[in-house]
Amino acid sequence: MKVKIHNPNGFNLPPIMIGKRKYRINIEEDQKVKNIINTKLLLNNDFNKLYSKILEKSKAVVFYFNFKEDDLKHILFISPIKKNLYEEEYIKLYTALRKARHPSRIRIKYNKNNEEKYLLEVRKNSYKAIKKRLKDLNRQIENYINHFEQKKGIDLNILSSSSVYFCKKCNKILSIDKFKQQKCICEEEITRVSQTEQMPVHHFNQNVINFLEYNYWLEFAIDYILKRKNLITLIGQEVLGNSGVCHEIDNIVYCPNENYRFFCECKNSEVKESDIFIFSGKMIDIGGNKGYIFTTSENVSDKIKRLARSKNIDIIENVLNKDLNSLLNEIKEV
Ligand SMILES: [Zn+2]
Repeated sequence: MKVKIHNPNGFNLPPIMIGKRKYRINIEEDQKVKNIINTKLLLNNDFNKLYSKILEKSKAVVFYFNFKEDDLKHILFISPIKKNLYEEEYIKLYTALRKARHPSRIRIKYNKNNEEKYLLEVRKNSYKAIKKRLKDLNRQIENYINHFEQKKGIDLNILSSSSVYFCKKCNKILSIDKFKQQKCICEEEITRVSQTEQMPVHHFNQNVINFLEYNYWLEFAIDYILKRKNLITLIGQEVLGNSGVCHEIDNIVYCPNENYRFFCECKNSEVKESDIFIFSGKMIDIGGNKGYIFTTSENVSDKIKRLARSKNIDIIENVLNKDLNSLLNEIKEV
């Protein structure tokens, strides 16, 4: 990451050294991410519920897109829960397979000598279950979006569409978005598109998933409010501290005509004592003396607020349930 001096015109403040990480730039440059930001609805409670629901479904979609034969073996022979996999979907699939193991549906009883045969039989059921699950997920996602659009009278362009190619014989996912010749796990030589079944699946792409999961959305939501106050803002910058360590600062805010700047931290969770100490420590290292913590948490204890105040940090809580004007009033700097 390259850092550069930042010293906006018209301010007589000690300059700071800032830079942005590449992975973060990539996420922010994604058109679907931009479309989400441009709705200006990030702090709207209904929209928040909508994208939270679609996020969960999209993570499930990605889980199935990346499903490997080894995952199947894992489900069958080792344990129902494997780390790093999307747990909820893993359990769902495991449960579906447990049901499918019923003798009338899987005829071969497992023993060590017929593991391959047994797997083949189970595979049929699991790939069928995955196909059905993807179809359901797509239906749910499309319905969520459509209901929201109808209710609000707007048009959202925030979903991506993937075309999934299934083997017609065994229902395994062969490829996504593009037909690829291959020998399927069921031994079928796939050489023509007609040997596949295609299904479109709508979902959040990986950049949107990351944008929401890393809580970048909240930083942009807060930025939108700050800009309404005609403040000059930066989002998601790394700031080089006097210690030589870079600190991620969610929002950096310059107040024109005041020769003043402050720093913000956005939290989509409870604010803990350690959050205050960390944020305060970051500010000391970068030469800041005023901070705000914006949180979706509905109630921050007086103890935490007192601690924050002692470090010259104001906490603005419950940001998803306040209207724009009361949020604007809580920012006292201008
Ligand atoms: Zn196949």
